[in-house]
Amino acid sequence: SAKGRGRARYEVFDDDLRGRIDRRLDTELALRDAVELGEIETWYQPIVDLQENTVVATEALARWRRPERGIVYPGEFIAIAEEVGLIKGIGVTVLGQACRAAATLEGGLAVSVNVSPRQFAQDDFGVVVRRALAESGLPPERLWIELTESAVLEAIDSAARTFQELRELGVKLAIDDFGTGYSSFTHLRAFTVDLLKIDLTFVRDLERSEHDRAIVEGILRLADSLGLDVVAEGIETAGQRDLLRSMGCRYGQGYLFSRPDPSPLPVVSFDS
Ligand code: C2E
Ligand code: MG
Ligand code: MG
Ligand code: MG
Repeated sequence: SAKGRGRARYEVFDDDLRGRIDRRLDTELALRDAVELGEIETWYQPIVDLQENTVVATEALARWRRPERGIVYPGEFIAIAEEVGLIKGIGVTVLGQACRAAATLEGGLAVSVNVSPRQFAQDDFGVVVRRALAESGLPPERLWIELTESAVLEAIDSAARTFQELRELGVKLAIDDFGTGYSSFTHLRAFTVDLLKIDLTFVRDLERSEHDRAIVEGILRLADSLGLDVVAEGIETAGQRDLLRSMGCRYGQGYLFSRPDPSPLPVVSFDS
């Protein structure tokens, strides 16, 4: 009967929703102990100089090694950690691991650490960074902090002081996923950063899309006139690399060169 079918459908939906709620609670609960149990790891992906074929830095990317589940990616736990107030512990852990790893690297390589809005908005974030540098012995200029535009936006009221503290410390500040947030130009006026990371969605179709090439060229010109360095994210093909190189983009990152890896300095392939 129609009623029967309706009810069956309702139950399917109900089971599905229940399943999602259960999984979410299960993740939240396990995440509460993840830091203390040493399950939060830092993996690394090199940032290369596209013109010189050298490595200049390595980006720290959080991974959760969850027992019986394997590696869990940030897309599945960073937003939850932010919502339930666990991002601070995870952030401190990754920052500490990243600074210690970078301090052991030869050639003065920098490490670039992602910081989410809630982390950045913490009153003591400047102190957290200073402590991580002191404990690892990493020189401040070898630490880059990647903020998204929404983190910068929040900084306008709540954490302008943090921004200033970081600048005074001498760490480098980068805007991550540049071009995907709101009012980028306002941010560039209000806050001094050192580096823009062009979001991978602009790199993906570079070879096919004249439109995307125009956008990337625009970002490069803007960065150049403001004296900012640029990293293009998500380079997967030699064609994308060659285009970015010819457009004058200095730095890049992506699977073409290296995938994220537990080693601070994974093997990088330049000859493809
Ligand atoms: P993101 O900082 O923009 O990092 C780039 C993401 O793109 C990484 O995903 C990286 O593995 C991936 N990627 C690198 N090269 C390529 C490529 O050639 N093609 C494609 N399709 N993807 C590529 P991942 O590691 O899953 O991290 C996702 C996001 O999670 C990061 O985006 C960052 O916003 C956030 N995140 C990662 N680690 C941390 C952390 O320690 N703290 C905070 N707050 N956020 C983090
Ligand atoms: Mg990043
Ligand atoms: Mg990014
Ligand atoms: Mg991203």
